[in-house]
Formats: sequence, C-alpha cells, structure tokens
Amino acid sequence: MNFPTFYLLPTTFLLSLSAAVLADTSAVQLAGQSYSPDSGTLAVHCGRLIDGIAEVPLQDAVVVIESGRVTYAGPAAGAPVVQPLLELGTYTCLPGLIDMHDHIADSAGGSGDLKGYLSTSAAEQAEISRSNAEETLHAGFTVVRSVGSYVAWAENEIRDRVNRGEVPGPRIQAAGIYLTIPGGGGDLLIPDVDENDIPPHLRMGVARGAEAFAQKARLAVDHGADLIKIIASGAVLAYGGVPAAPEMTADEIAAAVKIAHDAGLKVAAHAHGAQSIKEAILAGADTIEHASLADDEAIALAASHQVAFSMDIYNGDYIAIVGREKGWPEEFIRKNDQTTEAQRQVFAKAYYAGVPLVYGTDAAVYPHGWNARQLRYMVKHGMSPMDAIKSATSAAARFMDWDDRVGALAPGRFGDLIAVPGDPLQDITILENVPVVIKGGLIFKYTIQ
Ligand SMILES: [Zn+2]
Repeated sequence: MNFPTFYLLPTTFLLSLSAAVLADTSAVQLAGQSYSPDSGTLAVHCGRLIDGIAEVPLQDAVVVIESGRVTYAGPAAGAPVVQPLLELGTYTCLPGLIDMHDHIADSAGGSGDLKGYLSTSAAEQAEISRSNAEETLHAGFTVVRSVGSYVAWAENEIRDRVNRGEVPGPRIQAAGIYLTIPGGGGDLLIPDVDENDIPPHLRMGVARGAEAFAQKARLAVDHGADLIKIIASGAVLAYGGVPAAPEMTADEIAAAVKIAHDAGLKVAAHAHGAQSIKEAILAGADTIEHASLADDEAIALAASHQVAFSMDIYNGDYIAIVGREKGWPEEFIRKNDQTTEAQRQVFAKAYYAGVPLVYGTDAAVYPHGWNARQLRYMVKHGMSPMDAIKSATSAAARFMDWDDRVGALAPGRFGDLIAVPGDPLQDITILENVPVVIKGGLIFKYTIQ
C-alpha cells in the first residue's frame, strides 16, 4: 500500500528541507515546554519493528497511535490510514526503553561527593531533576523507575511535574526515600560532618527495628510512592559498611514488604551480599538491585521464585575510571573493584539459570542520558540482543506492574516509540544514539537530518 508522503518535523528543521517535502508538510510540531501529555495522534512507518514481545522483528510495519495510545502495530499492508504519517522506512522502531534503576533526582557524580547534598538549594534541586528528566527522555528512555534519593520526595516532585506536562521527561515510578539502617548504605552520614548538621530531609528513611521500618514504609506510601526501596545490605558508594554484609534484618525487610504489598506496591531491595539477597527474596522483595555477590544458592532461589535481578554491570567501569580521576573516596573505589567483575559473573550465571533480568543502570552514578550504555555489556556477557532489549522493555514493564501501559508496541499501551538507524540486533550500540523519541504519541526528539 502507498502512504502519503508526510513529515512531522520540528519547525527548527524545516528550513533545511527541500521545497518538495515542504509542500506536503503541515501539522509539524515538536512537543514543547507546555503540552498535554499522552495526547498525540500519528502513524509511523517503520522499516523494521521490534515490538518488545515478539522474538523476531517485523519488516515493513506501521504503528498507529491515537490520543496517546497504540491502536495498531503490524504489517504496513492493511494498516489503517491515519495522518499525519511519520516516514521512517529505513529505521528500526522499538518501544520506548525502560530503566529500572534510575535516580532521576540525583546529579551525576553526586554519589561520589556526598557533601554536595548539604548545600543544594530547593531551586537547584528542581533544576537537577528537570535536566535529568529531559536528558533521560532524549536518550530514548520513556520510562524509569527511580529507586530512591537522599533528598526526600525530590523524585515524587519531578514525577508529578512530568505528569502535569510542565517539563519533558519519562514516565516515572518514584520510591521517594531509601529505607535504611542508621549508618547504612542509604544513610547520608559523612565522616567529619556532625550528624546534627545534616538536615532531616536527607535522612528521612533511616530506621531500626521492624515497627520503625513499617512506619517509614507507610510514610513513603502516604507521600505517593510508586514502590518501596529498601537497602538490605551495604552500598558501594557510601561510607562505612561492607557491600556483602547484611544491614536490615529479615524481620525489618518483611515489615517494609508487608506495608508495600498491602498498598499494592512492589519492593526493590538493594542487596549485594548472598545472605541478604536470600533474605530479601524470602521476605517477598520483588526485585533485587546489584546482586553482585550472589552465590549459586541465591541465584537458584531467585530463579525458583522468579524474582528479578536488576544489575548495573556497566557503571563499575565508569566508577573505576572517572571516580579515580575525580578523586572519589578510596573506600568507594575499593568497594567498586570488589563488586564489578563479580557482578558480571553473577549476571552471566543468573541469565543461564533463568533468573529474570531487568534493565537497570544506576543512572546518577554516571550522567543521565547515558542509560543505554549498559546494553553492550549485557550482550558481551552472554545475553542475546533480543533478550537485552526485552529486559529494557516488556520484562521491565512486567516487574514494575506497568505491562498494561508500557514496554511493548501493542494496542492499548501508550504510544511510546523510539527509532534508530540500522539493526540493533546486529549492533546493540546503535541504541546509545536514539534520534527519534515519541512519548504518548507526541514527538519529543527528532534529529534526523
Ligand atoms: Zn542505585
């Protein structure tokens, strides 16, 4: 079937187009600073469609988005005629990508210099969140799960601003705070800074004992959390503690999980060590972040319970190189060295053992917008390119309970679509430079010349 030649382009690109193309151009619009979210209607002609669910791509496909939702995704022949039509016949279309482990309110490198949190004003915080959200969306990540910040409720605020259409950004699930023990991996204690000089909003989730953790989990729920984040065992980028050592007890984890599940929310457990990974799984946590020092038993337990691992097997290199250059604390560098290679080996083992693996990059350790860089590491460590894409689309959506709305280009889900030149199944690094980003049927990025 023939499609009318129709181009949707940002006005800034119009002048470089030929007169012939311009003659057919109207309704050209890039979603701007003020827009109505999930309101777009357009059709996209894709040379190749990876829909997030099927095992093989579909050649010569059309995706139709009406009032923000996908109404058709299938062969171009027989596709309903909807205008405007975005012609991307030499491109591969995919669902907008999902990052399950983001810190959308935290600045890159902030984790390497924790003192910065003490001097950041509310206005500066809002601007950090806004630019992170925009960069993340422009990188092709139309959904993120933001799994905590030291700054209480900063994640909730940027989520709400994006949802209101005030600023461009991905769809965000927000944890809001870290639930952590005093001095634990999510507690903003800094050597040579008096504990009394740290504002309470930077330590909102610190607790000890099952009842106290239940109260903190309830506090997060009452502040509109989309998930609960617990720090089960020690963090790499925190003072004191050992990544492998359990911090929260099994009872404390279970208390937080109960509040979350009663509220219909998932629990993401930050856990490096084998013991706390097992305790978190048995206590009902839904995903395990890092899992770098999991043993065979923990891997088998995750596989049998179908609890997902969200592993950041890229950023260890970033910390090792940039962290050293920037003079991050020696303790952080050392703990990173202890977990980076171990985590990659666990990743490969877990993949072959059938543990669900969901894409998570710990964005904020490195700059937002670099979210896709981990894909090449996943493929290098044994994952098939299609499984890597699914980990950042349909598999991730399932574990955030959003598989009714994102993670696939299928009727009923939001019209979140990215397009890249070439075939990411042949070269996964193509996804590191995404020129077309559509969210809710609105074009947020179009940098095809
Ligand atoms: Zn993290």
